[in-house]
Amino acid sequence: MSERQPEALLLDGVSKAYGKTWVVDRVSLTIPGGSFFSLLGPSGSGKTTLLMMIAGFVTPDGGSVRLGGRDLTPVPAEKRNFGMVFQGYALFPNMTVGENVAFSLRVRGLGRAERDARARAALDTVHLGGFEDRFPKQLSGGQQQRVALARALVFEPAVLLLDEPLSALDKKLREGLQAELREVQRRIGKTFVCVTHDQDEALSMSDRIAIVRGGRIAQEGEPDDLFENPASHFVADFLGESNFLAGDLTPAAEPGLLRWHAGATGLVQAGQPSQAGPALMALRPSKIAIASGEPCGMPNRLPGIVTGSSYRGTAIHCRVDTPAGPMSVSLPSWRAPFNPEPDQRVWLSWAPDAAVIVTDDRA
Ligand code: ADP
Ligand code: MG
Repeated sequence: MSERQPEALLLDGVSKAYGKTWVVDRVSLTIPGGSFFSLLGPSGSGKTTLLMMIAGFVTPDGGSVRLGGRDLTPVPAEKRNFGMVFQGYALFPNMTVGENVAFSLRVRGLGRAERDARARAALDTVHLGGFEDRFPKQLSGGQQQRVALARALVFEPAVLLLDEPLSALDKKLREGLQAELREVQRRIGKTFVCVTHDQDEALSMSDRIAIVRGGRIAQEGEPDDLFENPASHFVADFLGESNFLAGDLTPAAEPGLLRWHAGATGLVQAGQPSQAGPALMALRPSKIAIASGEPCGMPNRLPGIVTGSSYRGTAIHCRVDTPAGPMSVSLPSWRAPFNPEPDQRVWLSWAPDAAVIVTDDRA
């Protein structure tokens, strides 16, 4: 494997129209070399089209794709030296695992001994050493997908492109392979660009995530930053669950804070730039404390009535009606102070920095 630091992949105003619809609309992104980068968005948002333009299978109607200083836009797919892994792994059923992995090397004219050695190394990378002589039907779904990964890695591609690589697998298997995919990427240090519609998958595997909505990038950043500091209603809602409080913000006596008014009042950390006027706040259900008595010293506290609760193993989810509207609260079940029952009177509270002021981009 090459010791060189992989080059960054740059998308500059990349666009694609089908008919009169721009399915990818002026997307600019820097994908750092050697990073695990995810394109995350709902179905139909343009992720696959974007990936196909990076691969060279779809020609952009505008913009450019560059690797390091080199413009790839005119370079045909087969000359880009990018590996691809798709959802339907489609191994050749009548070839052994070893032959499947070595296939692209045979097409490239490599000799038998080198093909075998490289195929073995690629299978070792995905922890399938010794499986060379099996046939695909003798493998589990997860193992087949690892063969597909080995097949894409065997010719040492500059970049690996993955389109929903794990979505055909069941939950337990998928989680195991997420960790393995991430571990393989770290070990070989190549750039992986992965399309997914699964938030947990993107959060757990990626160095960076671009959230795609309607052919545009809604927000791009590190997983924890996107989760903690969503810029918009869409991102806060798509990446995990949020409560939204629509109201007004006014200056507060406390430095760095604003007073919010939404059927009740409280304090929220001021955004950058600090806003006043109509605003939307996003508040994660897990950042709200629930108690049977009124908490003292909390700047955000709301009385409420429990309308429902459900036990989900690690957490208890409650719905609570408050003067600011219905709220979802999620408490870790191991330290739940009590088991909230419907019609019970409770108090909710949270810290000023628990809520985030977001752009109201509700459709
Ligand atoms: P995603 O991968 O996020 O689900 P796609 O990139 O596959 O989204 O598709 C984005 C939009 O472009 C969808 O509305 C889809 O129907 C449309 N689209 C994709 N490919 C074509 C095509 N070859 N011809 C016409 N429309 C297409
Ligand atoms: Mg797709």
